[in-house]
Amino acid sequence: MSIAVFGSVNVDVTAYAERLPKPGETIHGTSYLTGLGGKGANQAAAAARLGSQVAMIGRIGTDGFGELARRELAAFGVELEHLLADAGSATGIAVIGVDARGENVITVIAGANHDVSSTDSARAATVLDHAKVLLLQLEVPVAANIAAAARVRAGGGMVVLDPAPAPAGGLPAELIAAVDIITPNETETAALTGSAPGNPAEGLAAARALKARGLTAAIVKLGRQGACVSGPDGDHHILPFAVTAIDTVAAGDCFNGGLAHALERGLPMREAVRFACACGALATTKKGAAAAAPTLAEVEALLARG
Ligand code: ADP
Repeated sequence: MSIAVFGSVNVDVTAYAERLPKPGETIHGTSYLTGLGGKGANQAAAAARLGSQVAMIGRIGTDGFGELARRELAAFGVELEHLLADAGSATGIAVIGVDARGENVITVIAGANHDVSSTDSARAATVLDHAKVLLLQLEVPVAANIAAAARVRAGGGMVVLDPAPAPAGGLPAELIAAVDIITPNETETAALTGSAPGNPAEGLAAARALKARGLTAAIVKLGRQGACVSGPDGDHHILPFAVTAIDTVAAGDCFNGGLAHALERGLPMREAVRFACACGALATTKKGAAAAAPTLAEVEALLARG
């Protein structure tokens, strides 16, 4: 398998209403959506939609939400042999409320994701030992991530960590030592360096400082300002692609799925980040998380347009 994703699988239950309810209040909403979520699953789906061979390693419950997540991942072409259905826990969910202005509140219940451990990387040894790129995030326990990273590195693969959601106490040194590339957004950069980059110059400085912790590359995602990378081929600000953004949910996940696809194809770092930026930009033009992930044809068209 070319790309392995070790991480979270959730189902997002999103309720849309004119406004968000106050504590103790019941309101009538306008509609709801139930769909695949979790940073791991979103990144796996995004890479698979681009045509990469992708295996998802993680845990769901044996409940209806687990079946839904499995079905949706399978529809993207993600290989699920190592997605364990654990009868002892519930599938992770995110309960999301969205108001008419797009403001949201989110409650995540990790469920089975919380039980992911080093036994899961041992179970998936056949995949991890041969993966060219491993994608990690912070929605499963750190020790499990470190074990998965060690396997991929031993096989000569590259490990990309999305330090999201932002780690309150920074990143453990053992985790930084276990990965090659990190990809924080502005908030996550603040959690790692102490200040949020407000512009590309600050993004470049943050990327340089993070790379200096012993990484091959650090990529700082700057939303509508593009991304900054400090890597083996130098420091670069990748300009944002001009798109009409309607929903920024999972832009970062589509960025990371795209980055894995490009790195697996052997693109140099600067080109890989440009490819990933195109994926992130296109993701903002559609609603939803994994559902917003672009196809290779869409990305190539945007790259050609410049
Ligand atoms: P996250 O979803 O993790 O907060 P970002 O919002 O930084 O991540 O988005 C990831 C990447 O997607 C950015 O680095 C950028 O390349 C692209 N992107 C996001 N929003 C826009 C936008 N409005 N216009 C163009 N590109 C965007």
